[in-house]
Amino acid sequence: PYTGPSAAEILQKRKEFLSPAMFYFYNDPIHVVDGKMQYLFDENGRRYLDGFGGIATVNCGHCHPDVVQAITNQIQKIQHSTILYLNHAITDFAEALASKFPGDLKVLFFTNSGTEANELAMMLARLYTGCHDIISLRNGYHGNAASTMGVTGQSCWKFNVVQTGVHHALNPDPYRGPFGSDGEKYAKDVQDLIDFGTTGHVAGFISEAIQGVGGIVELATGYLPAVYRIIRNAGGVCIADEVQAGFARTGSHFWSFEGQGVVPDIVTMAKGIGNGIPLGAVVTTPEIAKVLTRRNYYNTYGGNPVCTAAGLAVLKVLEKEKLQQNAHVVGSYLKDRLLALKDKHELIGDVRGKGFLLGVELVTDRKEKTPAKAETLHVMNQMKEMGVLVGKGGYHGNVFRITPPLCFTKDDADFLADVMDYTMSKM
Ligand code: PMP
Repeated sequence: PYTGPSAAEILQKRKEFLSPAMFYFYNDPIHVVDGKMQYLFDENGRRYLDGFGGIATVNCGHCHPDVVQAITNQIQKIQHSTILYLNHAITDFAEALASKFPGDLKVLFFTNSGTEANELAMMLARLYTGCHDIISLRNGYHGNAASTMGVTGQSCWKFNVVQTGVHHALNPDPYRGPFGSDGEKYAKDVQDLIDFGTTGHVAGFISEAIQGVGGIVELATGYLPAVYRIIRNAGGVCIADEVQAGFARTGSHFWSFEGQGVVPDIVTMAKGIGNGIPLGAVVTTPEIAKVLTRRNYYNTYGGNPVCTAAGLAVLKVLEKEKLQQNAHVVGSYLKDRLLALKDKHELIGDVRGKGFLLGVELVTDRKEKTPAKAETLHVMNQMKEMGVLVGKGGYHGNVFRITPPLCFTKDDADFLADVMDYTMSKM
């Protein structure tokens, strides 16, 4: 049994010693002591079904034994070699990861987070094209450093950083956008931004294919192919942010951009790449990668043996346990169950997403699509009381984000849907 500090003590110390900006889920936050696969356990040994997977980070399951073993083996050999010497952990992982990409995407840079990966990707785009302007989507999230905060398209995540050369395009949001599911119509806005807001040449375009923080918004069909054409005509490169949606999560594909049938010039990764270990990556073509040889580029921890050993173990687990297939089969089943709940509960305005990247948007009025903020919080708290954790997102905080570890079973899916149904029925 757990004998450490209590939840109340931890909360008190967080308030005293940690950033006042740190926030937590639930009125009465959970004190997580252990994690095993799709479950989390609190200080009293109470089990929770994890429908959020550490924000889509824990792909293989909490403390997956193969990943833990790979980390343990590596940390006992050499933890930090610096990339100035040779070690095979980084090359083994780079080779395995590169094999997951289409086209000429095969040169990897390793970082420690998704923010860093996106910062690097945009710097590559700017160096390669000699241009500065970058187009991103309203409602997207890309990180919390200067450039990434700039391209992030939600005011709640922006501080007053100097935001130069950023243009936020109309979000191709099938539920709330003005053109419904017609991706090509939204793409026209990107051409307008280039024509009326730049020299006609841009460094590039960055977006998720399914927005995570933004509330599981699947970009309208046909949007990315049209925008990639427009961007390339303007001399820019196309960056796909796979930090949240990558690594088999969408089920139908390993990368979410594949769902739109495009091949980006640069792809960024983090979260699911290391099952919770601090690791991020950028992949690009040899031609674009070359621009970084103009100066010294160095990252102390990026690609260290422990994190890359974890990354390789994750790829092996995804394959061995057929987790992409599981995300597709169980994720589709869960989505059907959630769609059935939409027929039953007026509160649910929309159910969307793919695989284990699902969103349930709550509205108080289906016609007006009025965000049901308070109701979302209520349902989330009640579900937690019944042992099920889901995430929350969207600009108005009224979308459940259901992004469990990819080992989630059909029984887990039923339990989650039943608990949501029960909670909404009691309202
Ligand atoms: N891109 C996306 C799509 C994300 O969801 C996040 C994190 N929520 C980031 C980038 C930033 O990653 P990190 O928090 O590791 O810096």
